[in-house]
Amino acid sequence: MTATPVERRSLRDVPEYAPDATSCAVDLRDNTNFWGAPPNALAALRTLDPSLLNDYPPVAAGRLTRAIAAMVGVAPDEVAAGCGSDDLIDAAFRAVAEPGALIAHPAPSFSMVPIFARLNGLEPIAVPLRRDGAADAEALLATGARIIYLCSPNNPTGTVTPADVVRRVVRESNAIVILDGAYAEFAPELDDVRAEAPAFERLLVLRTFSKAWGLAGLRVGYAVGSAALVRAVRKSTGPYKVNAVAALAAQTAITSDADWVRARAADAVQLRGRVTEALRTLGLSPLDSRGNFVCVPVADARALAARIAERGVAVRAFTGLPVFGDILRVGVGPWPLMERFLDALRGALA
Ligand SMILES: *Cc1c(COP(=O)(O)O)cnc(C)c1O
Repeated sequence: MTATPVERRSLRDVPEYAPDATSCAVDLRDNTNFWGAPPNALAALRTLDPSLLNDYPPVAAGRLTRAIAAMVGVAPDEVAAGCGSDDLIDAAFRAVAEPGALIAHPAPSFSMVPIFARLNGLEPIAVPLRRDGAADAEALLATGARIIYLCSPNNPTGTVTPADVVRRVVRESNAIVILDGAYAEFAPELDDVRAEAPAFERLLVLRTFSKAWGLAGLRVGYAVGSAALVRAVRKSTGPYKVNAVAALAAQTAITSDADWVRARAADAVQLRGRVTEALRTLGLSPLDSRGNFVCVPVADARALAARIAERGVAVRAFTGLPVFGDILRVGVGPWPLMERFLDALRGALA
């Protein structure tokens, strides 16, 4: 008998998300909070009520959802919480589009977007970023896609798409527009469209506790949009996606660590400027990143990242990207880590 493959046919071409392991002492590949976890959230976990472990959490993370809604300035039924914002991207795709529908996204952008599109039977269309790093509104609109994904500041370039462009894409299309703001805390100068999202009806704004909020290990993200859109996303995630421990940490962070988060984000912004200057001094031309990472076009990213890794620092290499070619993406943390990176880079370039 010939063996039948276990995977469904359309899954076979979907790549697995499997970043290489690293033995580097300094790992700057993920854009997490390199200062650590928020202190009051951490203290709450150290003294947690054991009944949190054997009881089910609220179905739709009720208390956390209310804390997020109060922070953002919307109603609780305009917020959906999930197991990281990845969960909400996945669920939103499934919630609003039938299999076979088109989803347009900028390129380069968050690598999980075309993967979640395929996992949900959707057809991703990559639309190159403009040279200035903003999303190309005309080209995205011209796809006629059912979903338009935007990311600002964008991963991996750090470049932004102005809020007016986001509003325009919502107004001039019939698409559901998903605005991923995973790095918004590092760009406080940008217009915050979260509180406007419910009135737009077809706009869903995503945020995460994984980056500025320092809780990547606990997996919490949220979506803000109209009550109808949020209801569809909640149906689509299924119940209990935020576990009780994660919900406790995130709601404590909102009520007691917001100043700490803002201060660490401001540190990251300041150090991002210092690293950018240092890269220019080395003759490189980093992009105008507004995230907690820098993005530098280089000739051969894989080879350069390997030489940097030999010197004990892991950075992310992207090769052959639309518009920007090869780039290194480097997370920004406390200055001693940045000095380790810059020393390794100087050695690698020498
Ligand atoms: C890191 C990242 C996410 C994923 O966040 P989680 O909440 O950890 O799932 C989503 N979008 C972008 C653009 C990211 O860089």
